[in-house]
Amino acid sequence: MSYKCLQCGKTIEKIEGRVRCPYCGYRIFMKMRPKVVKRVKA
Ligand SMILES: [Zn+2]
Repeated sequence: MSYKCLQCGKTIEKIEGRVRCPYCGYRIFMKMRPKVVKRVKA
């Protein structure tokens, strides 16, 4: 499952526990599941 950073729009492959975007440090990601799109606070 991959996630998309809501700030910079980069896609992150794995998020475990509390993780920040490696590109911009943002903490809110969009879950990139097939059929299901959910907002997640990391
Ligand atoms: Zn980012």
